[in-house]
Amino acid sequence: MSSLRGQLSLVLGGLALAILALVGGYLGRVATQELYTAQAAAVRATAQAAAELLASQLRDREREIELLSHSPHLVEGPLDAQQARDALDRRKALHDEFAWLGLVAPDGTVLQASGGLLVGRSVAQREWFIAGRERVYVGDVHDAKLLVNLLPALPDGEPTRFIDFSAPIRDAEGRLRGVVGTHAHWHWVTALLDSVTRRQQPGSGIDALIIDRHGRVLYPEAMKLAQARGDAVLPQLPTGRFEGEVQFGGKAYLASEASLQARTSAELGWRIVARQPLDQAMRPVRDLTRELVLLGALAAAVLTLAALLLARRISRPVEQLADIAERVRTERRMPEFPQDAGAHELARLSQAMQSMARSLLATERELQQANLGLEAQVQQRTLQLQAANAALEHLATRDPLTGLHNRRSLDARLADALALGRRYGHGGRVHGLLLIDVDLFKSVNDDHGHAAGDAVLRQLAALLQASVRTTDVAARFGGEEFAVLLPELAGPQEAVRVAEKIRGAVQEAVFPAVGRLTVSIGVSLASPQDADVRQWVERTDEALYAAKRGGRNAVVLRARPALELAADAQSI
Ligand code: GH3
Ligand code: MG
Ligand code: MG
Repeated sequence: MSSLRGQLSLVLGGLALAILALVGGYLGRVATQELYTAQAAAVRATAQAAAELLASQLRDREREIELLSHSPHLVEGPLDAQQARDALDRRKALHDEFAWLGLVAPDGTVLQASGGLLVGRSVAQREWFIAGRERVYVGDVHDAKLLVNLLPALPDGEPTRFIDFSAPIRDAEGRLRGVVGTHAHWHWVTALLDSVTRRQQPGSGIDALIIDRHGRVLYPEAMKLAQARGDAVLPQLPTGRFEGEVQFGGKAYLASEASLQARTSAELGWRIVARQPLDQAMRPVRDLTRELVLLGALAAAVLTLAALLLARRISRPVEQLADIAERVRTERRMPEFPQDAGAHELARLSQAMQSMARSLLATERELQQANLGLEAQVQQRTLQLQAANAALEHLATRDPLTGLHNRRSLDARLADALALGRRYGHGGRVHGLLLIDVDLFKSVNDDHGHAAGDAVLRQLAALLQASVRTTDVAARFGGEEFAVLLPELAGPQEAVRVAEKIRGAVQEAVFPAVGRLTVSIGVSLASPQDADVRQWVERTDEALYAAKRGGRNAVVLRARPALELAADAQSI
């Protein structure tokens, strides 16, 4: 993911998720701790409430017995009287929890009892009796012994158990008259405990244990029985106190204990342990955690989406600008820029790119125009150069006075003609050369001046040009001598005819300020035997010389050497 959008998504999304995880994690921790603390407090409150309730109830029963021991008919009246029994029955009727109330003689014989039970029997060996002779006594729970068969069985099959209360009965002088004792149903105590745990939220799983001062479980029954069998139902705690997370029989609980805070209770030394399976105690925490995780996942999804959208919003204008730049490159014209580029910086970038593209395109147009101008200039210069070259060529090949070909040009053409004739044979066609010399020209100069002589030369040149074909080459050979190359002739006669035509034309012409003039013309044809142009020219010059010698104003054909000589001579 190296695109801007990808990186932005990653950073923004990552940041959002990290913050979410931190805040969510922190809040979750605080909340779960709170919940845990609250749960632990509820367990502790249960233990304390149960302990307080038991303490106050036990104390009330203790007081009840103590008050009974001070009642006047027990202090003064006979303990075996019907009146005494009535008082006991009334008490039992008032207090469901009392299974039995009795008055015992100092020797341990039961004198009177509720329902008349155990009257006449001896309880001399019973702890409650022995202690009750001295003081107000509250005894630990124990199984019913004498009464077990006399009282109705408990509905749930639980063995009959009592806790005992007893107090001495003394006369006005303080002498012991007997002991009043009662057995309260153990059931009453456990019902009190259950009433407290029942007050907890249903399904909370909170229950409570009663443990005596020797660490024996008194309640619940199942644990008591298990302990009696030798099972380790209570954990070994380093502090000795049931507080916080504690294992009971391999199962984790949140526990708290409270002691019974009263004189009675202190004597009993009971502890109430409230406990809640950790599993259940932690359920609100788990629920909260699950909700937090769900909420967090939802928030994460929303944040990720927001990060993606934000990244898109930031990167889209950049991508658009990149596309536009690409279009400027390929299309070479100003594209439409987006009106709303988004952020201020992007708007600036867009404007900068716009002006850059505009200036680039303008520069390119200028370059194109400059190029076109340059091309036109080059074309023009080329034409000028061509013209100059043509002029140079003209200067190099033409005679300045007459405008005819100069000697150099003529020599080149003669060489070409000779080479062509030699390479392709003549095929019946021949090249002829005329050398034309003005007769007695020196006198023209002498009589009329050099300028008049030049004028004559110019007029002669024009005349010459007019007398030959365009393919023929008329040249100024030097001084007042002219030459004409006649290519592709049918034979020597044709050359002679042209020479005669020229000679005649000159003869007929009138030269202003000079009058009439004549020319002598030497004629010869190129020959394959000619080693070079010079030989051909010399032969022609000889013909011209011959014409001069012959009296001027004549045409002389100089025959070709060797075999053609005879044929040429014949034709003249
Ligand atoms: P002929 O040829 O008939 O024997 O007699 P000629 O008088 O023509 O003798 P020649 O050919 O020897 O004389 C050539 C003269 O032509 C010499 C010179 O004064 C003259 N001449 C040569 N070139 C020029 C030129 O360019 N201009 C003028 N005006 N005269 C020239
Ligand atoms: Mg001459
Ligand atoms: Mg001459």
